[in-house]
Amino acid sequence: MKGASAGKPGEVQIIEFPDMQLEAGDIIVSPLACGICTTDVKMVQKGTKEKKYALGHELAGMVIETTPQSRWQAGQRVIVAPYLPCGGCYFCLHNQQALCTHLYDVTIYPGGLAENVYVPRALAERGVFAIPDHVPNVVAALAEPVGCVLKGLEDSFYRYGNSVLVVGDGPMGLFTAAAARVYGASPVIVAGMTPHRLEIAQAFFADIIVDITRENLISVVHEHTADRGADIVMVAVSTAEALASGIEAVRPGGTVNAFAGVPEGSMVSLDIRKIHYGQFYLTGSSGVTPAHLEKALRLLSSKRMDFSQFITAQFPFSDVAEAVAYADNRTGLKAMVTFE
Ligand SMILES: [Zn+2]
Ligand SMILES: [Zn+2]
Repeated sequence: MKGASAGKPGEVQIIEFPDMQLEAGDIIVSPLACGICTTDVKMVQKGTKEKKYALGHELAGMVIETTPQSRWQAGQRVIVAPYLPCGGCYFCLHNQQALCTHLYDVTIYPGGLAENVYVPRALAERGVFAIPDHVPNVVAALAEPVGCVLKGLEDSFYRYGNSVLVVGDGPMGLFTAAAARVYGASPVIVAGMTPHRLEIAQAFFADIIVDITRENLISVVHEHTADRGADIVMVAVSTAEALASGIEAVRPGGTVNAFAGVPEGSMVSLDIRKIHYGQFYLTGSSGVTPAHLEKALRLLSSKRMDFSQFITAQFPFSDVAEAVAYADNRTGLKAMVTFE
């Protein structure tokens, strides 16, 4: 089967992956839509010699082959978790499944951006969820990033009615703001530096937008939170400066979440007085669990927020390279690869 892989730095290659032999309980899913994530962009930029896996982990597809031991049937539309917490390690037992020691032991193969995707039994049993009929493929494929967002809010101790500041106006930042809105956050403040993205935020789910190239983030946040700072700050930008500004904007006792992946060696200096006297929480979030995928799919299936507005470009599988370039250049929001 063909799949899109990172190749030389900056290049996407369509290469042949070995077909997998199905064992009891395994299934094969044929992709219908797969989102392009910053992770994919980074993998392409970095390049790889190994080519063991295909790009893509935000997958909606159709079951095309099953085994008698599987509860899935050919023709069912599903979303598929990219990896599976084991359920038995120390972290899983303490309800921190994304920290699972064996998180990548069971994965899709070769990846979401491939002609066919092999789903091993354990994943088929615990990490695959049926897409309701009325939900379009491209919207269902948002379950993975939106699942990460829901997990991020939970990891930040989010509670209904909290004020939420999102630092960052990329797809993950805007998904976070939209989810916070649906979950009753008040106010939802989005800070960024891309005017057309901030406009989308303001039109659909942000109470306040802050263009940090023109406005002072901290004073805007204080103005709208009775001078306290935000209850929850989700930092969805991959820089130390963004995290530092998030820490400045949180209220005493609130939570700052380093939600964006950052390069190795990214450091911030911390004012210990602010931690000691201000007693705020600093945490991070990465990855998704099957429970959050399922929850995200329900949110996407509801009428509470139209998440299709975040999908600003669709590309056929043959144009994965263009889709990756689009995701990289900040002109739009979410790029989707479709397979019809
Ligand atoms: Zn992703
Ligand atoms: Zn585990």
